[in-house]
Amino acid sequence: MTIILKNKKLFSISRKEDIIVENFTAMKKSFKFAQKSIFCALLCLLCTSWGFYAHREINKMAVFTLPPELMFFYKKHLDFITEKAVSPDKRRYIISREAPKHYLDVEYYTDSILIKRPDWRQASVLYPQDSMQAHGMLPWNLIRLTYYLKEAFLQQDVKAILKLSADMGHYTGDLHVPLHTTRNYNGQLTGQHGIHGLWESRLPELYAASRYDFYQGRADYIQDIHKVVWDALTESRNAVDSVLMFERTIHNVFREDKIYSYEDRNGKTVLVYSAAYCEAYHKALHHMVERRMRAAIKMTGDLWYTCWVNAGSPDLKLLGEPLLTEQEIKEDEKERLQDGVEGCVH
Ligand SMILES: [Zn+2]
Repeated sequence: MTIILKNKKLFSISRKEDIIVENFTAMKKSFKFAQKSIFCALLCLLCTSWGFYAHREINKMAVFTLPPELMFFYKKHLDFITEKAVSPDKRRYIISREAPKHYLDVEYYTDSILIKRPDWRQASVLYPQDSMQAHGMLPWNLIRLTYYLKEAFLQQDVKAILKLSADMGHYTGDLHVPLHTTRNYNGQLTGQHGIHGLWESRLPELYAASRYDFYQGRADYIQDIHKVVWDALTESRNAVDSVLMFERTIHNVFREDKIYSYEDRNGKTVLVYSAAYCEAYHKALHHMVERRMRAAIKMTGDLWYTCWVNAGSPDLKLLGEPLLTEQEIKEDEKERLQDGVEGCVH
C-alpha cells in the first residue's frame, strides 16, 4: 500500500508498503486531513518478507559457512546468490501459486501440526488443496526443494543449482520469521498493523551492520531434514506471542507522535518507525531478530551442504558458467521490474 501525497491531495494508494511523500511541505499542510489515511497506510508499513535487505544478507552469509570445495563455487556466484535471494518475493506478483510457499498459518492447521509434522503426502490427504493454497505450505515447499537441489547437483546443472540454492535461502529465511507462522502476520488482528515490517525489515536494516554478528561455524550435515525444518518452524511459532506482546507493551508507553518519524530514502521522504521506538523494541526482544537471522544463515548453509553431500559431493570445478535461454532472460527482466516492490505479503 502506498500513499503518495502530491499537491496537498491524497491521490494514490497502491500495494507498495511504504508511504512516500513527494511533497513534504504539502504533506505538512495536509497533515490533519491525511493523518487518518496515513495511519491506515501504516497497516502495511515496511511489511515485507524479511525485507529484501535481510534476505540478501542471509544468502550471502550462508556462503561463508560452506566447506572450501563448496564455498569456492558459491563465492564465484556470490552476486547471483545474494541478488536472487529476493526472487521468490518478486515472483509473488507474477505467479499466483507462489505466495503460499512463504508461510504457514498454524491457526488453520492447529498447533497439533507442530507435533504431528505430516510430510507432503500425508498433508495432501489431511487438508484440501485450496485450503493449503490459502493457509500456506512453507515447510513442505522447502523440504521439496532439497530433493530438487540434490538432483541438480547430481545432474551438474549449474543454472538449477544456483536458482534452487538462492530460493532455498529465501524460504529458509521465511521459516525463521515468527510472523510467517500466523494468520495475524501483520498484527492486523490485534491492532498492531505494521509489526511485520518493523520486526523483519526495519530492525535488521537499522542494526544488522553495526550490532548483529552473522559469523557462524562451518555448515553441518543434516541427518533428518524433515525434523530440522519442523523444529525451526516450531521455534518461530513459539516466538509469535513475544513478538506481539513486546510491541504492544512498547506501543502503550510511547506517545503516538513518537512512534513514527520521517526518513529520506532515495530522495523521497518516507514515514518509518522512529529510531527510539525501534531501539525500545530491539531491547525488549533481546536480540531475537539477530538470533533468527543467524539461525537462518546457518540452516541455509547446512541445507546446501547436505544436498551436495547427498548427491555424492560432486566436483563443482567441472561446472561451466550458467547460460540463460531467451525465455529465462525475459523472466529475469519481468522480475527486475519488481525491484521497487517489497510487497505486503504474508
Ligand atoms: Zn518470502
